[in-house]
Order: sequence, then C-alpha cells, then structure tokens
Amino acid sequence: MSEHESMNCGVVIVGAGPAGLSCAIHLLNLINSHNESVGNGTKQGPLINEDTLGVDVPLMIVEKAGAVGDHSISGAVMNPNGLAELIPNFREKGAPLESPATDDSVLFLTAKGSWKLPVTPPTMHNDGNYIVSLNKLVTWLGDQVSELGQDIYATFSGKEILYDESNPLLVKGVRCGDKGVGPDGNPKSNYEAGMDLFAKATVLCEGSRGSLTKQLIKKLDLDSGKNPQVYATGVKEVWELPEGRLADGRVIHTMGYPLDSRNFGGGFIYKMSENKVSVGMISALDNSDPQMDAHKNFCKFKAHPLVREILSGGKMLCYGAKTLPEGGWNSVPKLGGPGFMICGDAASLINVPRLKGINYAIKSGMLAAETIFESMEKADFGPSQFEKYQQRIEGSWIGKDLKPFRNFRALMKKGVVPWGLMKAGISYYSGGIYPFGTLKLEADCKELKPESKSAGEKQQDAIKFDNESLLFDKLTDVYLSGAKHEEKQPCHLQVDETKCKTCYDTYGAPCEAFCPAQVYNIVKNEKTGDFERIQVDFSNCVHCKTCDIRDPYEAINWVCPEGGGGPRYVSM
Ligand code: SF4
Repeated sequence: MSEHESMNCGVVIVGAGPAGLSCAIHLLNLINSHNESVGNGTKQGPLINEDTLGVDVPLMIVEKAGAVGDHSISGAVMNPNGLAELIPNFREKGAPLESPATDDSVLFLTAKGSWKLPVTPPTMHNDGNYIVSLNKLVTWLGDQVSELGQDIYATFSGKEILYDESNPLLVKGVRCGDKGVGPDGNPKSNYEAGMDLFAKATVLCEGSRGSLTKQLIKKLDLDSGKNPQVYATGVKEVWELPEGRLADGRVIHTMGYPLDSRNFGGGFIYKMSENKVSVGMISALDNSDPQMDAHKNFCKFKAHPLVREILSGGKMLCYGAKTLPEGGWNSVPKLGGPGFMICGDAASLINVPRLKGINYAIKSGMLAAETIFESMEKADFGPSQFEKYQQRIEGSWIGKDLKPFRNFRALMKKGVVPWGLMKAGISYYSGGIYPFGTLKLEADCKELKPESKSAGEKQQDAIKFDNESLLFDKLTDVYLSGAKHEEKQPCHLQVDETKCKTCYDTYGAPCEAFCPAQVYNIVKNEKTGDFERIQVDFSNCVHCKTCDIRDPYEAINWVCPEGGGGPRYVSM
C-alpha cells in the first residue's frame, strides 16, 4: 500500500481564489438545479452525486493558505460583470464592495510634479466598477461555498500533478504536499504523507505562476506556438487615512516617475471605505536593470509629493506583493486538455490596459464548471471533453475583451512614453486590427543585462526608510503582511546555488533587489568582501513568485511550502 492515502473525487479544484471558488459555486448550483429537476420529474436522466459518478466525493477544493482569503491580494477595481453572472443578487447578499468607483483620473508624474491627462484613456474608465479588497471578496465567496454545503480544505497545498499510468498525457488529479517534514527532508513525529486526490476533472486555479500549472504547461507543451508569459510585480499597502482626506470611490492611476520612459508600470491609489486607501505600484519584470526593485519603486512613488501628501498623518495597516501575468492573449497557454482545465491568473487571463482580472477569474471558473457539468450530464469525461473549455473561453466575453489587446504589452517593448502609448491608442481605435499578427515577447528572465553593460541605467537611489510614517523597509513591510512559515521544513525556494557566484559576479545579486520580502541575502566574506554564499530566509516569503520568474539563470524554483504557510492578508 502506498504511504499516500488516496481519495477518488469527481472534481478537484486547486486554489480557493476567485476562479476556484466561482467554479465551485457555479458547479454546485448547476448540480443542485439538475438534481431538483430530476427529482420533480421536469428533467430526464440520473441524479448527479457520488454514487452516479462512482467516486468518494463529487467535489474537493484545496487551498494552500491557512484560511480562505489569507493569500488573496489585488489592487483592486473590479468590473462586476463576472460576479453578477455568478451571483445575480450579490449586493443583497452582502458582497464586500468597498465603494463604487466614482472619480477616475490618470496622472503623469515627474520627480517632483504631476499633471493630469486631459482625457482619461478609454480603457481606464471605471464607471460601474467597484473598489474591492480581494482578500475580503474571496473570504465572502468562501462563505457562499460553505452555504452550499461544500467544505474547503485550507492548509492543503498541491505538490504534483498525477498522470494516468497508461496515458502519461492524461491528468488524473493532484498529490497534496506532505506535512511534518524536517528541514533535512526526513519525517518528523507529526509526519503526514500528502493525500493523492484522483479526479475526473482537475481544475488549476492557483493564481499567477502557479507551481502545478508551471509543471503542466512544461510537460504537455501547452504554450507551444505562444509568446512566453511576461509579468509585473505589484507591491501595495493599505493605509488608514485621516477623516475626509479622499472621497470614497476615488480612483487615481499614475504613469511616469519613478519609472523611466522605457519601462512599463505605474502607481495606483484607490479609496476604500472606512477611511482606508489601497496604494500600490506595479513594475514590469522585463526591465533590463538587474537591480530593478519593485519595493523601492513603490517607496519612491510614496515619497512623491502628491502621494506623500495623501498619506501624511495616516497609518499603514498591511503590506503585500504579487505578480501579474501581463502577456495578454498571445501568451495564454492551451487551457483545457485531457483531465484538466486552467482558470484565472494561472491561465493568464488579465486585461492589462484595463487593469482587470478578477472578473475574468470568476467567468473562467464558471466556464470550467459548465464544461464539467456537461461531462457529468453525459457521463463522458473523455480526453477531448475539456478542450471545449478553450472554445468556451474564446467565445465568451473573456475572448472578446482580450483578443483586441493581444499585442498591447509587446507594443510597450521599445519604450512606453510616448510611442508605446501612441501605438496602443491606434491599436485600440482600430479594434485590435493594428498591429497585424503577433508581436514577439521574450521571457523576463532573458531581459536582464549584465551589470557592467547596464551601468548608468540604474534607477534606484538610496531610500531613507523611516519605518514609521511613510517609508517602510522590506522587513518592516513583511511583518505587516503577516507572513509566517513553519521554520522546521524544507526550504520551498529551491535554489541552484551553483549558479549564485556567477550570477553575483555578472548581475550583482538581482535576487536581493527583485524579492519584495528580503528573502535572499548574499553573505560576503567579512575581510575581503567577496561573495561567500546565499542565505534564503524563506519564512519572509509572501508568495509573489517574482524569483521564479526573473532570476536570469532560472535557478530558483518556487514550490508550495507546507500547507498553511505564507502571508495572512487583511483588507488587501
Ligand atoms: Fe516573492 Fe520569491 Fe521573494 Fe517569496 S522569495 S517573496 S516568491 S520573490
């Protein structure tokens, strides 16, 4: 008998974020409605339950965080179109909406000044949208799942994909991570082998750069013929402001400082309820400067007179960071195949010019649910069944929204201001006809220039942290993310340390710069100052995945730590 206990499930959803929970809610509603109709004789066919599916449980949801919502973070201004389809009476049911977005503006920042764009770009209009805390929204979606009688298994991380023994291309479920393993890899007294969850359908909803999704894309070559994915790192804090500082619903986006005209990204300030404000900065990871540091960019943004004035007298409450897949439609991998579907950020379904992703996560989860439900009705989970999910995505408003912007990010590659933005404008008004075809992108890790060659390109000046009123260093910020991991476990950042010395000599330790949680620290010889080794303080990790993406030697592999570890976000 295998040391891994197993369970046969109808469906396994990995990740209880907006995509995974929406998939669960929609699927449970479809099954309940079907069973009710079969029960009252208005529909023919068998009931759908564990007996008719021939499984132990129809649905299993696993989540690596300690509690649902703990790892969920986003800006965020949400288009409610996805939520309205999922739960039409979401307002009456008390969905946690901070405020309707009432006032949009886009500002261009110079080092000391700012000017408002005379016209807000059409993609940046937020009429009808809501400012939300994703962390609160996900917690609420989790409550909706519980109301439907479904459990969510938090602290269960996905460790590896299980494939059919006779068909190695057929996904048969996931193996959960072990618990109680010591730093040396040996079992401790509380050891529990991770459970094997076999499933007819495995739905990956792990968020940006999901570790299982990464394995699957590589093994099944799901990104063949596609652009490589490119990412940005978003860093944000939630502040409590003095009464009356900003009106609820105020949405401010910025371009320019602290980024130069070649680099993509920008700042945001969203006024939430109860005098809270979400303030953050997004920095693209295709920056050639190996010392590019999204946390420092964020600090420089906060130190700008405009932002400093907004935050003055306020109190910082919480910190977090995440990556965003920005490649657009041309970087979306094949999303459905034998036994699997990929949803939400893990599927790279983000509309970068509109800065929207939550609605696509919700809708993609719903489309996965409809695909599974069709399989359940027909009792057909054959290898081609989940390829229909891809067609559903393409035919839905997700495909219609994303296709016209398929080259948006590539248009910014040769400079953002002004040419990139001008070309993006032409592309928008041509309905995406311009530019023709697919503009190529390069993976972010290939974009760093050796330090000597990028001399003069460094955009980072020293930041004077006060750790009290405005500028917090990484460790102080990490403390306010609530990040914590069981220290006595194997490091979940698998670093090929044979590459570190060369990387240090060539690029000057980019890991110290790109990690927004000060996980990587180069230890130098006290006397000579020469490189000695890398120290990885994995307990600080906020699970943003930047290291897995940007390391120039691809020497860092992020895997799930023991379930329950990571940030504990509040209001993020
Ligand atoms: Fe992000 Fe990697 Fe740092 Fe963790 S170690 S916070 S995933 S960059």
